[in-house]
Amino acid sequence: MKFGAPKERSEGERRVALTPESVGRLTKLGYECLVETGAGSEARIPDAAYEAAGARVVPDAATLWAEADIVAKVRAPDSEEVERTRDGQILISFLYPAQNPDLLESLSARGVTAIAMDMVPRISRAQKMDALSSMANIAGYRAVIEAGNQFGRFFTGQITAAGKVPPARVLVIGAGVAGLAAIGTAQSLGAQVRAFDVRPEVAEQIQSMGAEFLFLDFAEATDGAATGGYAAPSSPEFRAKQLELFRAQAPEVDIVITTALIPGRDAPKLWLADMVALMKPGSVVVDLAAERGGNCDLTVPGEVIETPNGVRVVGYTDYPSRMATQASTLYATNIRHMMDDLTPAKNGVPVVDMDDDVIRGAVVTHAGAITYPPPPSKIQ
Ligand code: NAD
Repeated sequence: MKFGAPKERSEGERRVALTPESVGRLTKLGYECLVETGAGSEARIPDAAYEAAGARVVPDAATLWAEADIVAKVRAPDSEEVERTRDGQILISFLYPAQNPDLLESLSARGVTAIAMDMVPRISRAQKMDALSSMANIAGYRAVIEAGNQFGRFFTGQITAAGKVPPARVLVIGAGVAGLAAIGTAQSLGAQVRAFDVRPEVAEQIQSMGAEFLFLDFAEATDGAATGGYAAPSSPEFRAKQLELFRAQAPEVDIVITTALIPGRDAPKLWLADMVALMKPGSVVVDLAAERGGNCDLTVPGEVIETPNGVRVVGYTDYPSRMATQASTLYATNIRHMMDDLTPAKNGVPVVDMDDDVIRGAVVTHAGAITYPPPPSKIQ
């Protein structure tokens, strides 16, 4: 069967769901690969590289959607793309089904089997398909690079003939996948890093990376840490203690990277305007939660603002797309692994096995029905 990737149409989206390397792997799985002309250009992958890997470059999106049995994308399809789908086609993409009920309705009505990469269960067996993690890893790394771009000093301390330079002090709030990547990147640049998370079990990971874990002096140290490894909203008492801790940090730190999220909710406000006001001029806040409302109450999504006391607050929402080559490579690999699981006979024919926990978790429309949310037993 034919596996195809169109050019992404969302404004500012530079990633692509297929790379020449994944063309090679998918061909071995028995698929014929198609790519829309220019699909990889923003990720610096020319058409010729796809052709050299054995893919066929098609002239436009209409041809791609008409020919491909499986269409792989990064962003959820827009209405024009939905119009191009057909009965029995498989679509693999980020879909965020909880936020897009209308999209699920139209995809199921058109008989599409939609596989949401954001719904892949986060279990060990599925790590190779975990696109949320591969993109969060990039976001954490890039957050540090963007912070460095706005910061007027070195990260590392130096003693040179021209003077002594202290290391930058970096605070990372939220030590999930993105936070840990930010900690590792800032550490490797020589900064002095400290981090906080409501899940105390991450302390060991933070410390093993050479960073400091900021412990909170609170009777229920595990407040806010819920089942499934994800955070839950904190009690008002815990929150007050947490804000007190951050307020004490504000005059000391040069860079704050916030990554705190709670599934299904707006991002908690943790780095408040009065904390920004306490920061030194030249300091930087990078708010990785900007798309979900922001952890900092001064964040403007998509923009960098400068406060009257000279602090820059970075609210970009497109970190993986800012590293489109790397992000495309990792995302295409996640998808290729999904195709491995969907093609047990390696014969170029996908089998949507709804008894497989990983596939069941990710399939959100199938055979004319909406299959989201999956039964709880299929999520963990
Ligand atoms: P996330 O993006 O949902 O949240 C980011 C971090 O913010 C989390 O560490 C969370 O605890 C923290 N946070 C929430 N509220 C906070 C607050 N008020 N103050 C400070 N920090 C706060 O997290 P994620 O990166 O998706 O990871 C969530 C969980 O999933 C973790 O337990 C992680 O180990 C697990 N995980 C498992 C797998 C796997 O097994 N395949 C893959 C990735 C992640």
